Amino acid sequence: MENIEISKYIAHRTYNIGKKDSKTLVLNEKTKQYILLEGITSDFFFYLINNENLKEFLSFNKINNLKEFINELRYMDILASDKVIAKYSDTDIEDIKIVNTVIINNMKKFILENNYLWLVHLNLTYRCNQNCVHCYSNTNSDKKELTTQEVYEFIDNIVTKGAFFLIIHGGEPTIRTDFFEIVEYARNKGLSVELFTNGLNLTTELIEKLKCYWLHNITVSLYGSNDEVHDNITRIVGSFDFTTSAIKTLNKNNINNTIKFRIIKENINDFEYVKDLCKKLGSKLVYD
Ligand code: SF4
Repeated sequence: MENIEISKYIAHRTYNIGKKDSKTLVLNEKTKQYILLEGITSDFFFYLINNENLKEFLSFNKINNLKEFINELRYMDILASDKVIAKYSDTDIEDIKIVNTVIINNMKKFILENNYLWLVHLNLTYRCNQNCVHCYSNTNSDKKELTTQEVYEFIDNIVTKGAFFLIIHGGEPTIRTDFFEIVEYARNKGLSVELFTNGLNLTTELIEKLKCYWLHNITVSLYGSNDEVHDNITRIVGSFDFTTSAIKTLNKNNINNTIKFRIIKENINDFEYVKDLCKKLGSKLVYD
């Protein structure tokens, strides 16, 4: 079998391998397009990318148009290729479906009904480089954190249980020295990874590096529409300027991001201005 390598923008998970209702969900983080493989095609994809027991699988199962199927996966950017791939319009590959919201909702239902995980939150650290007035994270404590190895074991564990999405937050997760190793580990396990951050560490260099991991989304906390409101809450002078400039850099690099505005008594009157600022910055807004 030729060299098979999964594309760097792909998140994927296979459920019910070997069963009639086997399903593989694939997400292209570049286009944000979901693809669903079902039945024998789903099993085949699993063995193909895990490079295990593929020969044995093929000796028991007949896949029509094997080469064309692999080529189709390359065409759809699911498998990496340094060649220009032509779409096979005359193949009868029936089990690749471009997924719409209805199918995604059915898929979530299927995952939960089969006792798999869908989305997992991981607090990487209690520590933070801000000192917000409303903080829940006990950022100055020396509470024990998971070691790198323990984080890897945790990730292995949730992958075995079928997790598709991993949201990494803290404290401020980017202050861990092993932050990139952990992101890389999670991505290599096929997880779709989202980062929650206060943006203070998001230098241009760090964003350049993050870009290579094709995160699903970066959610940045913003507490006000100007430095007076924001910096008074974070208690870090200059944090507003730094965080908003990080958001601009994310948008310049076309990195999917969302601004998260937590409404507290110190910024409640600023909400409308934050909405305007998000529009200006070109980012989506969520608030709680
Ligand atoms: S950014 Fe989040 S974790 Fe850090 S101090 Fe503020 S609320 Fe706490």
